[in-house]
Amino acid sequence: MIVVLRLGHRPGRDQRISTHCGLVSRALGADRIIYSGEQDTEIIKSIEEVNARWGGSFGAQYEKNWKKVLREYKQKKFSIVHLTMYGMPIQGDIKALRKKTNVLLVIGGEKVPPEIYALADHNVAVTSQPHSEVAALAVFMHEFHAGKELEKKFKNAKIRVIPQERGKKVEES
Ligand code: SAM
Repeated sequence: MIVVLRLGHRPGRDQRISTHCGLVSRALGADRIIYSGEQDTEIIKSIEEVNARWGGSFGAQYEKNWKKVLREYKQKKFSIVHLTMYGMPIQGDIKALRKKTNVLLVIGGEKVPPEIYALADHNVAVTSQPHSEVAALAVFMHEFHAGKELEKKFKNAKIRVIPQERGKKVEES
């Protein structure tokens, strides 16, 4: 199971990027996203709307206290993996990480609390260059699942894409 913890959400300023963190987590095989920072019911609502239409059992929730989330998931024996440009290169760590059954994947926002580096079991970098939580999340998921997430099916979908060379075709039920 992969649960994504998105730190430091700010309604308004981070609305779009935080929603994208949820959509990427869902599409690429995570089970749940937990938002911390400031509460924003709109984000949870938009993820739930995608679930209702596009299927699957992805969960989204808000939790004010990110340290409580870390404590809770440590107790549940999840490995805490923090994505940061300052961490160890993903290409060195990924084989060992793939063996973990349960991962709490922490992604930051504009500012990351310094304690997270010590609290995480692994600080993992997707290159040592600054970029984005959405990109880091996507590359991590792809590496972690070794590409198998691309085949993921979503149960109880009301709508699905019929892939085409050109144009847009969808099937609705
Ligand atoms: N300036 C922030 C800090 O205090 O480190 C980071 C801002 S960055 C826009 C937001 C998040 O994107 C980071 O917290 C991290 O999770 C992710 N991120 C950005 N570049 C990354 C990289 N090269 N490898 C892994 N994660 C990265």
